[in-house]
Amino acid sequence: MGREQDEEKELWKLLGNIQLRKFVGDNWKWRYEAEGRLVPSKVSIFGWRLCLDRLPTRGNLQKKGVNLQGDNMMCGLCKKGVEEVDHLFCTCMEAWVVWVKTIKWWGMEVVMLDTVKGVAEMLIYGIGSLVGKEMGACIFLVTAWYLWYRRNVLVFQREEDIKEQLLELIQVKTHFWVSNKVAGCAFSLVQWQSNPRECARELKRYKKSLKMFNQQQKCLQSLS
Ligand SMILES: [Zn+2]
Repeated sequence: MGREQDEEKELWKLLGNIQLRKFVGDNWKWRYEAEGRLVPSKVSIFGWRLCLDRLPTRGNLQKKGVNLQGDNMMCGLCKKGVEEVDHLFCTCMEAWVVWVKTIKWWGMEVVMLDTVKGVAEMLIYGIGSLVGKEMGACIFLVTAWYLWYRRNVLVFQREEDIKEQLLELIQVKTHFWVSNKVAGCAFSLVQWQSNPRECARELKRYKKSLKMFNQQQKCLQSLS
């Protein structure tokens, strides 16, 4: 449990403070700037492994000495490219169509990218400039999490393919987590699906007024 908490903390160091200035080497040098987290630990920990390229993709398994050859090296989603992190989470057409749907859902312009880091930046800054980086990180992480989930469904043949439901699953999950983040501030799933920006702005306004209310209460208490 201690290790998981460390990993979670590390992820938010990575995602929480993404900087516009250039990355140093291959590492994602993002400063920590958390104001509360919108996703549960399991998604944070997944994100930490994704950011550091520590997920057990077939490419990584081979690097660790697992003997995989031919078709066994192929991407679990499309079976056409070698399963490296940038392929699986970005350049794979099966993954890319999901990012496009997510980006369009947020009313943003689609830009072709070739690394998962690029996708993360686009969402964290794109959504971040509208309603805060924390929301951008949440949408990035949950979308990536569902791509990995579907990959595992296909690789381990656990259940029926969820391809057609992916966007809806992302919307339902993020709605649940986001609308439960602040008690008293709620919007419907339909509102979230049709206008996520306005819902996120509403959440921000609510959090701000709640903070002000709490400060006023403290102030009144200190006077009485
Ligand atoms: Zn693929």
